Amino acid sequence: MPVLCSRCRGAPAEVRVAAGRLRLCPDCFIEYFEERLMKTVQEFKMFRPGERLAVAVSGGKDSGALLHALRRVYPNLELLALHINLGIKGYSDHCEEKVRRLADMDGAELRVLRIGEMGFTVDDFLKTIYRNRVCSPCGVIKRHLLDSMTLESGVKTLATGHNLDDVLSTMLETFFAGDLAQLIRLKPVLPSRHPKQTKKIKPLIRLSEFEDYMYALYTEIPIRSENCPHSPAIKKGREVLEALGKGRPGFRYQALSLFLKKLIPILEREITQPELKTCGRCGFPSSEDICAYCKRVDLVKGN
Ligand SMILES: [Zn+2]
Ligand SMILES: [Zn+2]
Repeated sequence: MPVLCSRCRGAPAEVRVAAGRLRLCPDCFIEYFEERLMKTVQEFKMFRPGERLAVAVSGGKDSGALLHALRRVYPNLELLALHINLGIKGYSDHCEEKVRRLADMDGAELRVLRIGEMGFTVDDFLKTIYRNRVCSPCGVIKRHLLDSMTLESGVKTLATGHNLDDVLSTMLETFFAGDLAQLIRLKPVLPSRHPKQTKKIKPLIRLSEFEDYMYALYTEIPIRSENCPHSPAIKKGREVLEALGKGRPGFRYQALSLFLKKLIPILEREITQPELKTCGRCGFPSSEDICAYCKRVDLVKGN
């Protein structure tokens, strides 16, 4: 006898959901996923239903699940999907194709920026001092361009597909690096601190990577099947997280809740965020006179 779904009791259960100790059938899992996203949006007052919302889509399962679930939960929301084609050989065009099909399926307006048309690609960083850690300049470039695309479109809020595992593993890495000011940036809602900075929201912060994957699978959304050739097989924070959570299904949810309710308020009281200047070149926020984005672009273009 198959185990029956804890919700509908009519269909065989296929997915275990750690947060509520549930075993769900595919339909009830989709429902569970969308309810959890909606509750997160409401709890942290992420946006208003009539607002125009930008969503960063990479072609992967997390941002794909995010766009699709937002569309299903908020059918009238004006969604602007933003995609950056990073010019990575054998990868970026594949991602862009999936994003185009997804935006079409979800009736989202799509804007694509190809950095190749700006005179460089992420692959070009292999010829620089970043050759062993291309993800670092790639992250800087993506963040900057997503902000500028959002602002150019007249939208104030940008949603990203960071999931529970992303936030917790980055939290561990940042904590061990001793960068306490940076920890605050993992909050579910980051208000803008500069006229050229968007408000950032993480509607998937209470959903795990596995749950995003299952949602993408069950809803049959187009997602990439290639992996980025530059991304490391195992990330440090992820390893620590796996070890800590082994055999403790509720661990991740408790850790997130402790982080948000206990640690963040203390950090916000005690740590002064570094003052934001304005980049003399592009006018975007920066901690120095010239921002990290402008420096990386100069480097890769050999200026
Ligand atoms: Zn069910
Ligand atoms: Zn700049």
